[in-house]
Amino acid sequence: MQDLIRRAAEVMKNSRKTVVVTGAGISTEAGIPDFRGENGIYRQLGEDRVMRIINIDFFRHNPEEFYSFYRQYFNFPAVEPSKAHYMLARLEKEGYVAGVVTQNIDNLHQKAGSKNVIPIHGNAEQFVCQGRSCRTRYDASYVENYPETVPRCSACGSVIKPDVVLFGENIYNYADAREMILSAQLLIVIGSSLTVYPLAGFVREFCTFTQDLIIINKGPTYLDHAALLKIDTGTTGAVLEQIYQYLQQKR
Ligand code: NAD
Ligand code: ZN
Repeated sequence: MQDLIRRAAEVMKNSRKTVVVTGAGISTEAGIPDFRGENGIYRQLGEDRVMRIINIDFFRHNPEEFYSFYRQYFNFPAVEPSKAHYMLARLEKEGYVAGVVTQNIDNLHQKAGSKNVIPIHGNAEQFVCQGRSCRTRYDASYVENYPETVPRCSACGSVIKPDVVLFGENIYNYADAREMILSAQLLIVIGSSLTVYPLAGFVREFCTFTQDLIIINKGPTYLDHAALLKIDTGTTGAVLEQIYQYLQQKR
């Protein structure tokens, strides 16, 4: 492990541009369960059921059922960023990381101080009115305190929707996310099984042009075979901290 960490630091040191891709695994240490890991909701509830409900058509046709499910299982606890989030913010500040593309909707990179973040699946702390000419935004406390299961806009009465990308919807900032990933010399994936498209596709595309992929994840991912280095760990914060220490030594 130590040797892998040292080599990762060396590759980073020599990289002209390093971009980081993160998934739910970076937030489990902050206290938010992932989907596919051992305590993930796919294991608890079944992937088919989750995918059927967390879907834009289901939301439009069955807002009542959508919201009773969403309120029960997607009510993220109010947590602080983990050490890994803080380490990434520091690495960006000191010029080692150019930016982060994340599938997470927990806003923790931004809270930790990362500046150049592309949250392609949105932000679960925000809600947006579905009225075509309204689009008023609300924060989570409005929805939590709303007296009915389905929250409605106080301006126009339309149903409001979590500002997250549901199955069947396009991701946010598709072109910017792809461009940031393909423009990297080194890509570091942290805490993602690389199952969810299109992000997994961007990483795959990156691998056809360059070999400099580092994966830091507990358990296998779909692109382990393409990685220059794979660090299998459940403590991504500690690994990033050690990488940072190596980078400091080499200044
Ligand atoms: P995933 O659930 O498919 O994979 C997470 C990966 O992280 C797994 O391989 C797991 O073994 C690994 N992992 C878990 N804990 C770890 C740890 N402490 N250290 C290292 N690795 C760890 O996640 P995904 O690929 O990001 O896709 C899930 C989808 O669900 C995404 O689209 C995302 O939007 C959404 N999601 C977001 C959150 C969040 O915002 N925190 C949480 C759950 C799901
Ligand atoms: Zn409205």
